[in-house]
Order: sequence, then C-alpha cells, then structure tokens
Amino acid sequence: MDGSRRTPAPTPRTLGSFLSIARVPKRVVGWIYRRVGSRIDRMLPPIASNFVAGTTPATALDHAAETNRDDVAVILNLLGEHYHDRSDADSDADAYVSLAADLAASDVEGCISVKPSQIGLGVSDDAFRENLARIVDEATEAGVFVWIDMEDHETTDVTLDAFERHAIETNGNVGVCIQANLERTSEDVKRLADLPGKVRLVKGAYDEPAEIAYKEKSRVDEAYRDLLAYMFEHFEDGVAVGSHDPAMIEYARELHAEHGTPYEVQMLMGVREDAQRDIAREGVDVYQYVPYGSKWMQYFYRRVRERKENLLFALRAVLT
Ligand SMILES: Cc1cc2nc3c(=O)[nH]c(=O)nc-3n(C[C@H](O)[C@H](O)[C@H](O)COP(=O)(O)OP(=O)(O)OC[C@H]3O[C@@H](n4cnc5c(N)ncnc54)[C@H](O)[C@@H]3O)c2cc1C
Repeated sequence: MDGSRRTPAPTPRTLGSFLSIARVPKRVVGWIYRRVGSRIDRMLPPIASNFVAGTTPATALDHAAETNRDDVAVILNLLGEHYHDRSDADSDADAYVSLAADLAASDVEGCISVKPSQIGLGVSDDAFRENLARIVDEATEAGVFVWIDMEDHETTDVTLDAFERHAIETNGNVGVCIQANLERTSEDVKRLADLPGKVRLVKGAYDEPAEIAYKEKSRVDEAYRDLLAYMFEHFEDGVAVGSHDPAMIEYARELHAEHGTPYEVQMLMGVREDAQRDIAREGVDVYQYVPYGSKWMQYFYRRVRERKENLLFALRAVLT
C-alpha cells in the first residue's frame, strides 16, 4: 500500500532533512531548530508514532488492544518491502508466522496483511509462493485471517493467482487488495466475484504507466465507484472499502442499503481516526491498518508526502 518501486524516495535521517525533502521552506526549518534545538531529531520517532505502532510485535499488539476499545479491529503489517535476498524474505515470513501465533494467543480482534515483495516476490515467484503458503497455513491453523496487499502492476497476476489458490484451499481465510486506478481491475473483479475470501478495494498507491492506468484523480474516483457498485451487487462474502474518502464511504452505505451486502471499512492508523470510531459506532465493521517495525522512516515519509497536513499536525503537537 505504499509508493512506487520505480521512483524510490530518498530516506531522510534527521528531522531537518525530512522537512527539506517534504519541501518545508528553509527559514521554517531554521525557526523550528532555533526554537527546540537539535533535540528535535530525537522527537522524530514520537512524531512517526501517529502512523506507526512502534517497532515490535508487542508495541503493535498494545496499540491494537487500545484501538479495539473503540470497537475498531486491526490489520497488523510488519513494515518491509522489495527484498532481493531470500534470507530477508524468509525472516519476515517467520515474523508473520510468529505474529499470527501472538495474535491468536491474545484477546486482540485483528488479522495480518503481507506484501508480496516482502516475502519473496523480488527473489522469485517460488520464494513468494512458499513463504505465503507457510504464513497462510500457520495463520489459518491459528484462526487468523491473512490479507495480501497489492503492489505495482507487474505483480498483479502472480498475486491474484496466489490469492485464488489460498482462497479455495482455506475456504476463504484470505483476502486480496485490488486497485481502482488500474484499467484491468474491471475484469479482475469479475474473476474474484466467484471466489471465497474477501476483497479490499483501494484507489491505488503506485505511480503506474498511463497506458494501463487512470492518471486523473476524478477518473480514479469514477472507477472506484463503478467497482464498488459491481462488488456490492456480486460479492456475497462482503466488500472491504479501503478508503478515507467520505464520498466513497457514503456511497458504500447507500449500496449496502440497496443490496444488503455486508461490508467493512478499512483505514490507516493515524488517518481520520475520529471517523473510524464514528463509523464503528454506527455498527459498521471498521478495521485500522496498523504498520509496525524498524523500517518506519520510509512509510512515515510517504504519509507526509501524500498530505502535508500530517506533518504540520504532528509538528504542532511537538512544538506546543
Ligand atoms: C487499509 C488500507 C489498505 C491499503 N492497501 C493498499 C494496497 O495494498 N495497495 C495499494 O496500492 N494501496 C493501498 N492502500 C492505499 C490506497 O491505494 C490509497 O493510496 C490511499 O488510501 C489514499 O486514497 P483514499 O481512498 O484514502 O482517498 P484520497 O483520494 O487520497 O482522499 C480522498 C479524501 O479522503 C479524505 N482524506 C484522505 N486522507 C486524509 C487524511 N490524512 N486526513 C483527513 N482526510 C483525509 C479527504 O477528504 C480527501 O479529499 C491502502 C489504503 C488503506 C486505507
């Protein structure tokens, strides 16, 4: 659910470099440093904690338990992607197996979400398939649901094939994400309608080529609406609405009233959390996607790039 692998973003190391990459004017950066001194660099992790639930499974589970108190369930994601070394992929797959066991042993209401390139797709299709099978088998045994995130368009076929295999084998204990910005999704969604398991519809986070993807926001929104309408009409197992957009959530509400199809709303940790609680209070299932792990810097940077208010909000909290 993150940025494109074709345009990797630079990794900031201090708050100063972070702010300049985020194009905050130099005089503002200088003003901040004069006001709080260089100790602000030690504050970057706390600022990021709006969006990332610490660096360990224990901190993620603590955040999850707190989130559950508002009737919001969680989708736990260990940060990491684009590994080209099999041992890195195997190590994160091990971490997911152990996370599923921890989740099953806790009172937390939640599930896990994995990225194909994190568990071996950047090494080989076989590495991905083997690690995914291991995670899905162990998690299913433990009673934990597994989501598969969707990455850029070069990974769509292999990801959907893997989902299909495990959806049938586990009788629906897996879910997959599909992206409204890809033109092919209007065909993919028909294939998915006949399978068990859940499907999360998102707008798409990757910078895809214009030949295969909608580039204008209004066109992506239109595709999102069309796909939602199709899913509410044809998906008996329900629809997962992965969006912060109030217009899409309202449209899902209308489609639910019309078709009666069950649905859930999924949003990211740190984004519209008031809305997450309000929607849960209405009786709709709400899931918060909760990333954790030591690779938080890149993820946090992407959240800030997509919405400057995220950084300004966090900075205001620190400065006041
Ligand atoms: C649970 C989840 C899982 C995801 N998984 C994937 C994945 O596997 N693959 C993938 O490609 N992408 C994934 N994404 C990212 C997704 O593709 C979008 O890039 C991202 O969700 C932004 O699109 P949006 O639908 O939220 O609406 P946008 O078009 O970004 O925003 C629409 C409106 O939503 C509101 N809004 C948005 N952000 C904020 C904010 N921070 N604060 C207040 N209001 C806000 C505003 O009113 C805004 O105008 C995931 C997203 C979520 C929520």
